[in-house]
Amino acid sequence: MAVDLHVHSNVSDGAHSPRELVLMAKARGVSALALTDHDSVLGVPSALSAGEELGVSVIPGVELSTDIENAEVHILGFYIDMTSAKLHEVLDMLKKGRQERSAEILRRLKALGMDIPLEYVLSLGKEGFTGRNQIFRAMVNLGFARPDKRYGDFQRYLGKKGLAYVEHRGLSPEDAVRFVRDSGGVPVLAHPGTDIPFSFIEDLIGIGLEGIEAYHPTHSKKTTKKWLKFTKSRGLIVTGGSDFHNVSPEEPLGLGSLPVPDSIVLELTQRWLKISSVQSTPSC
Ligand SMILES: [Zn+2]
Ligand SMILES: [Zn+2]
Repeated sequence: MAVDLHVHSNVSDGAHSPRELVLMAKARGVSALALTDHDSVLGVPSALSAGEELGVSVIPGVELSTDIENAEVHILGFYIDMTSAKLHEVLDMLKKGRQERSAEILRRLKALGMDIPLEYVLSLGKEGFTGRNQIFRAMVNLGFARPDKRYGDFQRYLGKKGLAYVEHRGLSPEDAVRFVRDSGGVPVLAHPGTDIPFSFIEDLIGIGLEGIEAYHPTHSKKTTKKWLKFTKSRGLIVTGGSDFHNVSPEEPLGLGSLPVPDSIVLELTQRWLKISSVQSTPSC
């Protein structure tokens, strides 16, 4: 059976509701699905109930956005404890940080001749979520960017080296790893690609990183192989997913279509049980 451990709903910047994603998973024969919205877990409860109803195993997750000097670093958190008060406190702080960051990006775009009100960007999302995908949609809707050249225009203005790029506010990569562990979850480095140095990852392993997302649509075969080898050599777990947001030419693979070994789910669950048993052991 297929598994997909990285998808986004319309609670962050995806196009489909959490329930629609679970229905899609069911239709595609996906046995386990992790909902990993950006800096938000608001979609998890409805994904869990849809999963129960439809017989799809849903893993509660989140994807935290952070930066280092030359790259973005995204940390996935699997099996986070939804009842943790600290979790909701930090995610609220990140939501505010996203709005401040979006306002700053819009100020920079205005200086480049693109006047886009923040209220308009907010109206394209739900629950006060803002992000670059929404800003890009606003740019396209207002005629400032070409939808058929998404990759080029997105990177030109909003990519890490883009003209209006602003770093994420709130958490450092190290904070994100600690935060996921403190929330009872399993921290995994998302899509490391080719820009993140091994030495930096070693530091994250030192503070509790448990795995690396080697299977990702942006990874070439060579990149996947590199991360599979590294992951194995460091005793970490491998994860993978489609990073699905929407049915579009930019995401031709779609939900559940990346070949990800289903044995990963068992390994992930074992890591989670280990972390939660350590957390619940009373100290002497
Ligand atoms: Zn990501
Ligand atoms: Zn993602």
